[in-house]
Amino acid sequence: MSARAAAKRAERDAAVKAALDVVRAREDLRARRGNDPVEFVHRHRAREDRELVALVAASCAFGNVKAIRLKLAELLDRVGPRPARAADDPEALAKRLAGFKHRVFRGEDLAKLLIGARRVQRSAGSLGGAFERELARVDREDPEAEPEARVREALASFCDRIRAEGGLPKTGEADPSGRRGPAHLLSDARAGSGAKRLLLFLRWMIRPADGIDLGMWRVPAQRLLVPVDVHIHKLARNLGLTRRRDLSWKTSVEITRALARLDPEDPTRYDFSLCHMGMVQRCPSRPDAARCEGCGVRPVCVHWKDRRGRNTVLTA
Ligand code: SF4
Repeated sequence: MSARAAAKRAERDAAVKAALDVVRAREDLRARRGNDPVEFVHRHRAREDRELVALVAASCAFGNVKAIRLKLAELLDRVGPRPARAADDPEALAKRLAGFKHRVFRGEDLAKLLIGARRVQRSAGSLGGAFERELARVDREDPEAEPEARVREALASFCDRIRAEGGLPKTGEADPSGRRGPAHLLSDARAGSGAKRLLLFLRWMIRPADGIDLGMWRVPAQRLLVPVDVHIHKLARNLGLTRRRDLSWKTSVEITRALARLDPEDPTRYDFSLCHMGMVQRCPSRPDAARCEGCGVRPVCVHWKDRRGRNTVLTA
């Protein structure tokens, strides 16, 4: 990259960062938490309960957020106030969750997830301990691999272990029942999917505690990748952080690397406020004076021109 291009990119990065800082400062994060699945995690005090609730809540987090929260409330009510204790009694837990359904998941699938995760907790001390060890192993065994690829492998191995302990089908294999739910519960990061729900779980557990994320695991926040859903993808394209059109792992890597230029220590720090930016639901992805009014990132949106009349598209 030429010195001129580097200077232009630095200028653009500074402008994007300033806009994102304004968006973050404007949001009442604690108030927003009440509309987010992570709120269920904050209802618990014990570390083992928080880890299990976070894993279940993130695994169920796709589709309409209101529906997700309603279903999580029902599920966690059935599980009871101490999810770790409940998961120590597989038969009783299976009975409590019998008949529960959320999209392709049934109560029996979620019982297996909780039981598997609880067994990993008991043998490793915590889910955080299990993940930290997997990451240290992959870092040691494959130091030449890209850092994000090492996180992906550690995450995939971590999920393999939960699947095996809980009786869920192995990664890439179908469940004997023929249903999609058991296989879909923990995504297969090795297959190149964006693994949005797993990356969300990692963000909750790893990012420093800020009233949303909980900072429970001893993994540096710089190892996190952005969980990319359709809204974050749209915004990332509009901010020039990526031009990729899919929700794949590669897209998550590209967006994360662009955000790491703004905050190398904590590239996912803007994720929650961007997700909850009111504008995101009705963003037209084109200049539309009425619909873009009040959008916090309009000063750096690639669909609007800068003061010199240039298109502000930035190649990430
Ligand atoms: S300015 Fe308009 S097009 Fe750009 S991100 Fe905001 S709402 Fe979307």
